[in-house]
Amino acid sequence: MNFLIYTLGCKVNTYESEIIKELLLKEGYKESETNPDIVIINTCTVTNMADHKSMKMVRHYQKLFPHALLVVCGCSAQNKKTEYENLGVDILLGNQKKSEIVKLIKDYLKNHQKFTYINENRQLPFEDMQIKKFATHTRAFVKIEDGCDNFCSYCVIPFVRGSIRSKDFNTTLKEVHDLVLNNHQEIVLTGIHTGAYNNSNHDLTDLIHEISKEDNLKRIRISSIEITEINNKFINELQNNPKICNHLHIPLQSGSDEILKLMNRKYNLEKFKEIIKKIRKVRPDIAITTDVIVGHPFETEELFLETINTVQEINFAKIHVFPYSKRDKTKASLMTNQVSEEEKKDRSKRLIAISNELEKNYYQKYLNQTLEVLIIQSKDDSIGITDNYLKVKIKDKIEVNQIINVLIIDYKNGFLIGQKVV
Ligand code: SF4
Repeated sequence: MNFLIYTLGCKVNTYESEIIKELLLKEGYKESETNPDIVIINTCTVTNMADHKSMKMVRHYQKLFPHALLVVCGCSAQNKKTEYENLGVDILLGNQKKSEIVKLIKDYLKNHQKFTYINENRQLPFEDMQIKKFATHTRAFVKIEDGCDNFCSYCVIPFVRGSIRSKDFNTTLKEVHDLVLNNHQEIVLTGIHTGAYNNSNHDLTDLIHEISKEDNLKRIRISSIEITEINNKFINELQNNPKICNHLHIPLQSGSDEILKLMNRKYNLEKFKEIIKKIRKVRPDIAITTDVIVGHPFETEELFLETINTVQEINFAKIHVFPYSKRDKTKASLMTNQVSEEEKKDRSKRLIAISNELEKNYYQKYLNQTLEVLIIQSKDDSIGITDNYLKVKIKDKIEVNQIINVLIIDYKNGFLIGQKVV
């Protein structure tokens, strides 16, 4: 039988979809984009738009392959159970039992009974999943943590991913070992709240320290880390462990103390800037990227201008800009002083323009330098990334998964342009 998986959302979803793919392939199922008997859609609910897209994809594949068994799982399914049931989904899962999908598919093929499992309990064990190889990615994601207990005012994720729980320390080391044996040179540690990793008294820094003992592993990237979780122990590891990529994604969310407080974020700007300073002391040229939400309730033009000043002062290498999206169940959805859609659009546009400028400045610092590039895509020309997450285009066709030296000669449309140094 053939299957197709469509994934929306973050790296955690990508990881879980790869696991599902590996489990199906192991049981003899084949991947097919054109003739699937089973369609699996792994959904996202981070914004209204993500829910909308998830449901759109379900309807799209229902129309395209009306006879296929339809499996829907993930955050949007967890959040919007009734809506998906009404769409006539055959197997509906939230964020649990993804590792049991093969069994659930086999059961369905035997008895043709629709199956729904949405567990709303927040206290859950870490669902044991491990992957040996990423079929379609050069870099391997490893999910080490699930859930979040922060309850930021705007965020629905703690309601759909449950409480913080971490993968077993030794199991993680074994998973990384297998991925390295299968030639993955870069590991991306992911989670919903990755910096909260804690298992048998081992925190994220312990995990990174141990993982980096894998000889053939060249790079360890952390998908995202909260500023509150960057302590002296982590900074010390950053200073002494060259395998940690020269890139940290640290969500700021707002550059105004007033809005940060309303957001229920656990830091103020002074604290944020102080930690950034410490990081740059040990890694002066590190790429620090961030997320900013614009148009949170009570964000006036004046407070938005504070955000603009802050991001320029911190000098991020890139900003992912998200217009605030009102999510049911969250505190912010009940707040007065909601910001109009036009204002959100306008502020997003202005902040994206600033991000583009900051990104260009950061990229241009590397003109005429020779950089180490991991090739992740190869067609007529090749695309790779550096350890500080710069995208590099090389004219020649170079096999994927090689790390090569590239002399940077230009910057165009968000890419450094370079030639292989022989
Ligand atoms: S830290 Fe805040 S923004 Fe991040 S997942 Fe948790 S609640 Fe959401």
